[in-house]
Amino acid sequence: MRIVVPAGGIGGARFLRGLKEALGIRAGSDGDESTITVIGNTGDDITLFGLRVCPDLDTVMYTLGGGVNESQGWGRADETFTVKEELAAYGMQPTWFGLGDRDVATHIVRAQMMAAGYPLSAITQALCDRWRPGVRLLPMTDDRVETHVVVDEGDGPRAIHFQEWWVRHRAALPAQRIVGVGAEDAEPAPGVLEAIESADVVLLPPSNPVVSIGSILGVPGIRAAMGAATVVGVSPIIGGAPVRGMADACLAAIGVETTARAVAEHYGADLLDGWLVDEADDGVRAEGIEVRSRPLYMSDIGATADIARAALDLATELKGRTR
Ligand code: GDP
Ligand code: CA
Repeated sequence: MRIVVPAGGIGGARFLRGLKEALGIRAGSDGDESTITVIGNTGDDITLFGLRVCPDLDTVMYTLGGGVNESQGWGRADETFTVKEELAAYGMQPTWFGLGDRDVATHIVRAQMMAAGYPLSAITQALCDRWRPGVRLLPMTDDRVETHVVVDEGDGPRAIHFQEWWVRHRAALPAQRIVGVGAEDAEPAPGVLEAIESADVVLLPPSNPVVSIGSILGVPGIRAAMGAATVVGVSPIIGGAPVRGMADACLAAIGVETTARAVAEHYGADLLDGWLVDEADDGVRAEGIEVRSRPLYMSDIGATADIARAALDLATELKGRTR
């Protein structure tokens, strides 16, 4: 079975860990490269301290490779922050974004390969040679796409990088618009469209529907390719609220209600065939989309594997129906 999963960071990575468990792909193994292809969001990427930071790709890589800080959900386990302290002593900005010492090594490898002219897809593959995440991890694009958020603090609208809005302001500045700068001119990274076209199923994990999945769908060609596949999504919204994080602030910025139904309808029946909602949202319907309810809290790997199995089962059922 060939499965494609467009994924953001924490929510996406946790779902993927459950999916691997459901398929019996062990942590740290190479997996069968043809089984799961992850299309990673790069809209959150930012250049800081001369280093290209790819938060979502690294979160997936560290989580699936066994190197993540479990309680935090991102960054390296057993991390120290000496480099961060030294940068602060030089007065380096920004101080609201920190890279841990172990994490810095990943970024030096990436910076060196970028300087040598390698595309992000090749760099990601090289980093994964160490982490062996058990999936094929592709960036959505090798081109530069950056999510910016238009805010207005009373002195007129201005666009700030998504990371500044999310990390520095904790998404508390009301967002007027969320824009994928560079998205229209971006091309899917090598292998992305081929993976979608040959997929038996596309699973949308509970990632942020706007700045994670939305950014990936914003790369020309990706949404159309997925529409032709059988697509089942897992709602990131339970009982009218995000499970964690500030997805409601992102949804508000694009005028979508924070409900499981509104997110399904935002994705649309041209993309989604099936939609899993939590038991709390039992009875939710969405035009043209098969909705099923079941527990959707990724409380541990076993529970997450059960969610992944339910998504795969629904996809198989819907595939059979349309053939
Ligand atoms: P990312 O978009 O993958 O980078 O991940 P985030 O950590 O920002 O989370 C994205 C979304 O996943 C948020 O809207 C959360 O509400 C949702 N989410 C987090 N944990 C769970 C969970 O256990 N179950 C479900 N259904 N959604 C979750
Ligand atoms: Ca479809």
